[in-house]
Amino acid sequence: MYETERKDLIDQLKRKGISNQNVLDAMIKVERHLFVPDIMKQHAYDDVALPIGYGQTISQPYTVAFMTQSLDPQPGQKILEIGTGSGYQAAILCKLGTRVFTIERNDKLYNSAFKIFDELGLRIAARCSDGSIGWDEFAPYDGIIVTAGSPGIPKNLMKQLAIGGKMVIPVGDRSIQILKIITKTSDEEFNTNEIPYFAFVPLVGREGWKEK
Ligand code: SAM
Repeated sequence: MYETERKDLIDQLKRKGISNQNVLDAMIKVERHLFVPDIMKQHAYDDVALPIGYGQTISQPYTVAFMTQSLDPQPGQKILEIGTGSGYQAAILCKLGTRVFTIERNDKLYNSAFKIFDELGLRIAARCSDGSIGWDEFAPYDGIIVTAGSPGIPKNLMKQLAIGGKMVIPVGDRSIQILKIITKTSDEEFNTNEIPYFAFVPLVGREGWKEK
């Protein structure tokens, strides 16, 4: 279903500068309409963020593509995602052949993402907790992708990133953020690239924003 719409979306992403063929291939394989509420299905292949309930969103496809391309995950690598939401980004990472660990704080969203991973036969480790403190048990991770806007770089996430690993995280205020692409070069040092501007829902937690 929606094959033409999905192909058109991928063409749009290419025109907008997404060039990593592995990312584009993964996005052709993952059916975004399965990750959005029924009422939103006809918009599933528009290049926009869509509401998924509980005040949360599935990110814009361009943003998913850009963040994934920036992370540049390789098959077999261990990737931690903070903010499972609909499960779409985790599914893309899984199709790229990575070992995905994903954390969602909202139990309703966690349950529905867990169900869809199961239905689609995606082997993804998911948990419901505060992702701002990471998932220590399986650290270090080759990549960490944070899909909610953070007031700063959570120190536990930095600690759980492998040396040579990359973290992609939107940092800013509650409404607008700069995407930081951080490469950890040693226990003490890292390089950062910054891309303005993105708008994510807030990362709420011990190392994120306080709940309102
Ligand atoms: N990656 C998602 C997708 O593919 O649909 C989109 C994520 S949505 C923009 C951000 C998500 O982060 C929301 O579902 C929100 O509940 C979750 N979130 C916010 N703070 C969190 C935290 N501290 N730990 C885990 N999840 C968090």
